[in-house]
Amino acid sequence: MYLPFSTSAAILGSDTGLIREVGEGHLDSFRHLYRRHYPAVRAYAVGCMQTSYDAYELTCHTFSELPQRALTGEPFVERRYPGCLRLQLLESARIAAVARCADDDERASPQFHRWVVQGSRWSMEESGRPAVAWDALPRDKRCLLWHAVAEQEEPALVSQVTGAPAGSIERAREAALGTLRQIRANLSLERLRRPDCRGAVEQLMARYPAAPARQEPFEHAGVCTECAELFSDVIHLETRLAAQLPRPARAPSRC
Ligand SMILES: [Zn+2]
Repeated sequence: MYLPFSTSAAILGSDTGLIREVGEGHLDSFRHLYRRHYPAVRAYAVGCMQTSYDAYELTCHTFSELPQRALTGEPFVERRYPGCLRLQLLESARIAAVARCADDDERASPQFHRWVVQGSRWSMEESGRPAVAWDALPRDKRCLLWHAVAEQEEPALVSQVTGAPAGSIERAREAALGTLRQIRANLSLERLRRPDCRGAVEQLMARYPAAPARQEPFEHAGVCTECAELFSDVIHLETRLAAQLPRPARAPSRC
């Protein structure tokens, strides 16, 4: 699939704005979405399929569904991953890849076939409270963190996708991570049983990221399993995001 694209086009809209325009019949906007997301969807398809032809066919199939769904009024970007078109596209590719794997398992790459045989579970869905915290995050922050942290994309692309100014992406990224950490902490605060838990958690959150080693909160975590788990999630959240967020068991190679 090749679509001519003019870089002299007017300032592009966010994903949400462009998908709305496609739904209103402005199919020209689809070209911008295609250009914006093609490299990531293609890389994902390469990770799923055995041959480059099948990866190409899967990529084309994934994008071909988008304008059709938008035009028929299907809430494509509001279904399972509200506000994050990339996740919708990756899910669409994954579902189609699983179907192709069921028809002929030799079409799937060895790692994708292994992942399907093991039950097609995404790692984030198995990780308990971090997954619940992720689901509770506002949709705009989820989309920003997916692109900026999980996929580690350049601020310019994250800016295009989200509509936020490129100069504010780093600040917005830190704010979104802070919100996710707080949601994760709040989920535990509701459940912690020891009387000194709340104080330890509040101290950690108040001092983070300048978390002091060997001081009160960590002494408490040394004797409290639940707080130790929470502290670990909070402190290592950013480095774990790429592995914790929903992706196939083994990240597909980039092309
Ligand atoms: Zn505790």
